[in-house]
Amino acid sequence: MLLSDGGRVRSDRDFVFFNAPRHVSQAVTLDPEPDPGTARLSVSLPRTESEVERIVVTGSVPDSFAAVQGLILTVFDHNRPVAWFEIAEAEPVRAMMFGEFYRRESGWRFRAVGQGWASGLAGIVTEFGVRVDDPGEVERPVPPPAPMLPPNPERPDWHPDPEGPGLRWWDGQAWTATTRPAVSGDARHCSRCGRSRRWRLFGGPALCRDCTEEIEAYLSGWRGRAERVLRTGGPRGDDWEGLWTALRYQRIDAAAGAGALKPLAHDHVERLVAFAFADGSIEQSEMDEFDAAITALALDGPLIEDLRRRMGRGRMLTRLRGGELPILGATGLHLDPAEQLHLNVPAIHIRQLARGPKLTEGRLICSNKKLRFTGPDTGTEMPWARVVSVTTTSGRVAVSATSARGGAVFEVADPDHVAATMEGALRVAKRLALSPGRRDTRSISQEIKAQVWQRDGGKCVECGDSHYLEFDHIIPLSRGGATSAANLQILCRACNRAKGANI
Ligand SMILES: [Zn+2]
Ligand SMILES: [Zn+2]
Repeated sequence: MLLSDGGRVRSDRDFVFFNAPRHVSQAVTLDPEPDPGTARLSVSLPRTESEVERIVVTGSVPDSFAAVQGLILTVFDHNRPVAWFEIAEAEPVRAMMFGEFYRRESGWRFRAVGQGWASGLAGIVTEFGVRVDDPGEVERPVPPPAPMLPPNPERPDWHPDPEGPGLRWWDGQAWTATTRPAVSGDARHCSRCGRSRRWRLFGGPALCRDCTEEIEAYLSGWRGRAERVLRTGGPRGDDWEGLWTALRYQRIDAAAGAGALKPLAHDHVERLVAFAFADGSIEQSEMDEFDAAITALALDGPLIEDLRRRMGRGRMLTRLRGGELPILGATGLHLDPAEQLHLNVPAIHIRQLARGPKLTEGRLICSNKKLRFTGPDTGTEMPWARVVSVTTTSGRVAVSATSARGGAVFEVADPDHVAATMEGALRVAKRLALSPGRRDTRSISQEIKAQVWQRDGGKCVECGDSHYLEFDHIIPLSRGGATSAANLQILCRACNRAKGANI
């Protein structure tokens, strides 16, 4: 309260409290968000109007000052404490007058008082001339107690200390003994260590130079640890969480960690995709692992979209091969009553005749019963019972069969898609289990994959590219090449295609 020479406020506007935290003269301001366990009032003596003779500092608590431990009144000059008073034995009252600034000769002095007021805060302020209609209106509402559990209790982090000012480290299960001061987030202080700085450029780093250097040094070691975690367990599990917990403990932004990790993260995902494709099929678990890795590593951009498309297509082809086939509308086609249409695409039927290849344009139609090709004036059909295998060679789909003609070769826009659909239809028609033979010959053990990847440095051995990598059999399986580390190498898609064309 700002009191004039009668010892009373001139009006209610001379009462500064939580509902009116700043005096019109700006001489007295109540900090609306003081540190926990404190109250803070700023007084600008030069701004104080000449009629104001005294500034009385009072306060109240919901129950009793006798229950308040370590009640201390501190007077600061700017940021330096110049005097403090320990109010050792507070009376069991709800309101107290702590002290006052008063004019003496040409300056101001401060006097500590520490006097309890039985009639509460409303009693004190009324005594100095403030009109109070409802005593409740001058009492600050009881603030909720500091939560004993932090907001995400399973996540170790710094949180406001429930036992005092500053922050305390929560280890994911309990509060630890480790504390640190809270840091003010303004532009003149380093957002990590809180040291004050002379100036900061707009848009410049929020960190002081010491912190920037400390973080850089820490991250270079952290990156090595992250690389081991990615190689052994991937971006999940306790070791992975531990990496980010360590960053939080060091008060390093997760974004800085993600930035330091980016090249490693890209390599990890390229490896994940190459490993998944090594056996030619993409299982749902591999798809899920890929999605989880992209999310955990916070990756995006065209290379990642490219990998996502590749995985999506791989998964789609795998599902087709496994017999999960679409059922298409059969408008204009004459199908048997129980026949379901799975494929209907333009195709060129290639027949090798004595005088050279004969090409017939038409449509390739695949149902659950049979395979059909219909040309302008010809047509062939082959029930699945007679088909032995479907393969793609040199961008064409080859069907071998036990029929008199022995099979057929088709040129289509998307041979992998057509072959996968035919394989699926064949598998369903013959009630085959999911390609046991195929997986046995093509699948490469995790150990061999890791060995080859390590040896070739996760790069194409031909051109050194590190995107879109594939495991290549140096001597192809079809020519008796073994699935051994010695007969495997890493090639990028382009080099693998070029090699395929030359064989
Ligand atoms: Zn700093
Ligand atoms: Zn290459």
